Amino acid sequence: MAAGYSSGEWLRHLFTIGRKKDCDKLKDLLSQKYEGEAILCKNGRSALTLALKAYFNPGDAVLVNGFTCFAVYEAIKAAKLQPIFVDIDRETLNYSAETIARAMADRLEIIRDKGSKIASEPRDDGRERSGSRDDWPSVRGVIVQNTLGIPVDMREIERIAKKYNLTIIEDLAHCAGVRYPDGREAGTVGAATVLSFGKDKSIDTVSGGAVIMRRDKQHEIEAPSKLPRLSDHLRARFYPMWGALCRSLTYIGIGGALMRLLVKIRLVERSADSKLDTSRRLSKFEAKRAYRQIKDLRRTGESPIREYYFVRDRAELLKKLQKKGYYFGGLWYEKPVSPERYYKQVDFPEKECPNALYVSEHIINLPIYYTKHDLKPATKLINQYLEKGEKGE
Ligand SMILES: *Cc1c(COP(=O)(O)O)cnc(C)c1O
Repeated sequence: MAAGYSSGEWLRHLFTIGRKKDCDKLKDLLSQKYEGEAILCKNGRSALTLALKAYFNPGDAVLVNGFTCFAVYEAIKAAKLQPIFVDIDRETLNYSAETIARAMADRLEIIRDKGSKIASEPRDDGRERSGSRDDWPSVRGVIVQNTLGIPVDMREIERIAKKYNLTIIEDLAHCAGVRYPDGREAGTVGAATVLSFGKDKSIDTVSGGAVIMRRDKQHEIEAPSKLPRLSDHLRARFYPMWGALCRSLTYIGIGGALMRLLVKIRLVERSADSKLDTSRRLSKFEAKRAYRQIKDLRRTGESPIREYYFVRDRAELLKKLQKKGYYFGGLWYEKPVSPERYYKQVDFPEKECPNALYVSEHIINLPIYYTKHDLKPATKLINQYLEKGEKGE
């Protein structure tokens, strides 16, 4: 993970020379590993947008984990789809087949009450649909996220998806290399597989993404062709250096402050602010970096990507951690759709997602690039704030 690069790694990252052949190699690797047609993108949300555009029609609705990243919401909107947030289980941070079934049942009931057409009725010609499409879009898909690398019970999700005729899209931002309980690897099940190579993700080259179209698409999509912006390229080059510097300054208590300054003067971009742009491709040097990490996945993909705990008085605890000089790159997630500064844009159904709301108010999680030793003062502090019986793994 880039943010975790040791001193030598940020140098290597800064001076890696990427060539077209590195992009081809990465595409081949992804196509083989996930058995489909790979397309390299600027970031994960652009990749997800392409997947959604390829497999759904504008106006369709898709089920989404009720505890997620704004990037996911952004992609759904960019593909002109309607998100339907499904509440999570507190233990897994994921929805379950039961919560999906309940969400679908509630929806069908409301639709019946309204006397409109049943949402999950299959289209007869595979394209156009009649009924009050604008008010009650048909649910056509489900995005599987495996939050923080905790896998869903994919067999159950598949069963429910089959029942309601939902197309599965796998989002591997948190979970590349993770296996489902039945042994299959994440990314080898759905119609399309989406990867993010962003900061602190399970594959981390600072920015980037890819989509692998595994089944026949409904719509042709245009692969990104434009070069990355120079400013984005430079920020991606230098971020591991800043990360290493800030981490080493944690010891004297100013790592967090320096990172906040770097964000302010825009030498570092907050992950959430990365722009969705389906026309730009991945930087070649990032393709080279991603190739290595994906090749090595077996060794790193087993554990969650962030250590998490449920705490009370989180604001106070965060302030104390900040004083100690830690920087976390934001909480995953401090709102059901995070970060907070974008949450207002999302019309999130808080009443229907009480668990997501609870978790978003109490969770604290730390990137795993801090070693156990570095984290000692932090975990000591966190332990004083733990919710009884609610400690994360
Ligand atoms: C970060 C993230 C993405 C997309 O990431 P980008 O920042 O656009 O690369 C997609 N899904 C989830 C669950 C994420 O956390």
